[in-house]
Amino acid sequence: MKLVLKFGGTSLGSPKDINSVARTVASFSKDNEIVVVCSAVDGVTDELILISRMIEQRKKDDVNVTLNKLILRHRSLANKTIKNSEIKKQLLEKLNTDVSELQELVRGLALLKEVSARSLDYLISFGERLSDDLVSYALQDLKKKSTALNGKEVGIVTDSNFGESRPLMDTTRIRISKTLGSLLSKKIIPVVGGFAGADQHGNITTFGRGGSDYTATIIASCINADEVWLMSDVDGLMTADPRLVKNARLLKEVSYAEAIEMAQFGAKQIHPKTFEPLLSKKIPMRIRSTFDVKNDGTLVTSSPSTATKKTVKCVSALRNIGLMDLSGGILFAAPGSAAKIFTILAEKNINVLMVSSNPSEASISIIVKKPDLAKAVNALEMNLLGKMVKKIEATPNASIIAVIGSGMKGTVGIAAKVFSAAQKRNVNVMMIAQGSSELNLAFVVKDSDCKSVIQSLHEEFQLDKIN
Ligand code: ASP
Ligand code: MG
Repeated sequence: MKLVLKFGGTSLGSPKDINSVARTVASFSKDNEIVVVCSAVDGVTDELILISRMIEQRKKDDVNVTLNKLILRHRSLANKTIKNSEIKKQLLEKLNTDVSELQELVRGLALLKEVSARSLDYLISFGERLSDDLVSYALQDLKKKSTALNGKEVGIVTDSNFGESRPLMDTTRIRISKTLGSLLSKKIIPVVGGFAGADQHGNITTFGRGGSDYTATIIASCINADEVWLMSDVDGLMTADPRLVKNARLLKEVSYAEAIEMAQFGAKQIHPKTFEPLLSKKIPMRIRSTFDVKNDGTLVTSSPSTATKKTVKCVSALRNIGLMDLSGGILFAAPGSAAKIFTILAEKNINVLMVSSNPSEASISIIVKKPDLAKAVNALEMNLLGKMVKKIEATPNASIIAVIGSGMKGTVGIAAKVFSAAQKRNVNVMMIAQGSSELNLAFVVKDSDCKSVIQSLHEEFQLDKIN
């Protein structure tokens, strides 16, 4: 099989982990053609972002301390991961080249005391530029032929939307099939640094946080891979967060549509665009553990086998959200009033997670992330209170509970079961929303009720017996 294996940062946090990643890749490469995609070493992207903030705050000493720590960490990983002294020397030289470029960049930005969106992408792309070498040389240490490439080198071409770029798939496809095709034909294992590419002018761009998942599926589509595996510290997608429900189970198979819903709510965060490149070619994805390779994880396909089709597959929660209830006002039902509300929020750069309004149009409920709540209430009060709206009530400690499964579509009685599960635990439901896809029934409760209602739903739908 032709496989793309993507490893998350928590799989690359220590010499032991990097060695185990290399051993896993080496063993799967015996019977398969493999392309590896890796994230930055655990925590490194956060540190690079921190450096950019320190530059803007003119904290030169802090910048140097943090940068040096980051460089030392990679050197120490190289020293402790690689056994063969010649290979170790080559890796350290390669790291030095990247490190010099990084130091030069940081010096330049520190002089300017500003970091533009374009410079920030260039800066944060270094996490993956350094980690791909660690993994590639660890493979060479196991006597496997391997080459490290960053997103630009492999041929990922994107638009110039820094921080949230999109690939230009036609150009990317031609370039990637050439670079990777040639390496694979020579039995060389390519290790690609995820997260970044370059625009048509050669500027480095990134896909946004968590973007290495997206790199993996872009590559899988370009080389017509048989499967793409997202390997991380979780076993796969679960019926519920095991920290909330003790007998939560691993889901063996889910559809793309279900996985997209679960990725937004679940414990395993997946970059939202990750599934896009897989859909047209129906390339299956596996979400599985780096540390337990005997476990097959969760298979994500376009058409799951009928045995795994259940009405409800998962209950999950999005915590740390805030609820706003806007009510009153004579003009509330006037055309354009909803547009006005959302424009005000958009201008403040506030993302709306969920909305619901009743047919009487006497009120509208809006969910935002908790850190945005005060800003949102303020903006709406300034612009609308006393005019379009009489009252704005805010509830800061809330959770969205989502019940997910494609079998819910057209099945009668799901909502009744969901709300009786809430009632059994005496939980008050503050807001409800179900999209017309019927894949996801979501409602809002007080955060202190979250655990109890999730457990009750898990029991109600017998999710512990799902497999
Ligand atoms: N290193 C990037 C991040 O932390 C991308 C990734 O890990 O997927 O967001
Ligand atoms: Mg590199």
